[in-house]
Amino acid sequence: MYLGKIGDGEELAGHGLIHAVLAFLEDQRLDPTPLNYSFAYHVVSEPAGALALEVARRTDGGIRLTTNEVEQLGNAIDGTADVAGTRPEAAPGPPAAPPTPEPDMAAAEALVTETLRQVAGFADMVSEMRTETRDFGRNLAASADALQRYAPIDSTDAAVAELARITAAMRARVEIAEARLEQATQEASELREQLAAAHDDARRDPLTELPNRRAFEEAVAAVASGPVHIAMCDVDHFKAINDLHGHPVGDRVLRAIGTTLARECPDHLVARYGGEEFVVLIAGADVVEAETLIERARIAIGQRRYRLRESDTFINGISLSAGMVTMTPGETLLSAIERVDALLYDAKRRGRNCFVGERGG
Ligand code: GH3
Ligand code: MG
Ligand code: MG
Repeated sequence: MYLGKIGDGEELAGHGLIHAVLAFLEDQRLDPTPLNYSFAYHVVSEPAGALALEVARRTDGGIRLTTNEVEQLGNAIDGTADVAGTRPEAAPGPPAAPPTPEPDMAAAEALVTETLRQVAGFADMVSEMRTETRDFGRNLAASADALQRYAPIDSTDAAVAELARITAAMRARVEIAEARLEQATQEASELREQLAAAHDDARRDPLTELPNRRAFEEAVAAVASGPVHIAMCDVDHFKAINDLHGHPVGDRVLRAIGTTLARECPDHLVARYGGEEFVVLIAGADVVEAETLIERARIAIGQRRYRLRESDTFINGISLSAGMVTMTPGETLLSAIERVDALLYDAKRRGRNCFVGERGG
């Protein structure tokens, strides 16, 4: 009996070890699963070890270990015991994302960000598990080879044949576990890509493909230091363009204006704030440089020729009005937007197609 060996503190080897593993499994009525085999191996191979002593204590008087006890004690064996038997979907992961109280945009955004973080953690965990499982499979393969050398296939020893069978079954289980983990890794990485795309979509205006108001607000909040200038540009009499040429043409004009504005301000964030309004975030430039940049971009948009490909005619009179403010220390974005709106309104009153900064015209 294995307990006798453990009690003696005697190291087992060769056939003795094999018999003792099988005897332990049989005695404890444990199925020959990888987890149980590994557990039994650790118990009988180190009879003076902490695990064997704990098992001896718990089984004293002929009490059998429960499956839970085997799992619990097995987890203490340097993390290898539960790898092969663990399904990826049952793996312990970060806590589930909190339920969304309302399907509003901000909550959906927060959910995407949180899920993205969790999937990243999950993918790392799965990949770690895969490495561990592969090592375990390699160890099993090595012991199977050793077993073959030690006890050739035609061995008449039933116990050896049984152990060879168990080892082969375990290798098969490890291969299945590896395949499942491979698939889980693949799925996690696809999900991560989809979520990253959704995250990006939520910050991009689909018509102009420029960053949207949300992206602009986040960018303003992320500026760490230095002066922050905010310019607001509004297309003049845009309603008339729609009325005259139709909404689809209006869309194309908006796209062209957005592209030109972004090209004219290459080092700064140009976003579609909404409707026919664009904002530019200029950080790290002094006020004169910032005003010059916006005025130059505004003029470039007025000078560009907008051709209607259907009729090969040009749309004339497209222009922008613009205002610009420098955020004061501690000022909220809302306050800066109100101030820049007022300057934009001044520009409209002055006859449109012009720029108004805080220092005047
Ligand atoms: P103002 O010079 O005072 O700015 O005059 P405006 O006509 O540009 O201003 P108004 O606010 O009266 O009209 C803005 C128009 O912009 C009305 C709206 O239909 C149009 N618009 C807003 N978003 C879009 C869009 O995505 N596509 C198209 N085609 N038109 C849009
Ligand atoms: Mg407007
Ligand atoms: Mg307008």
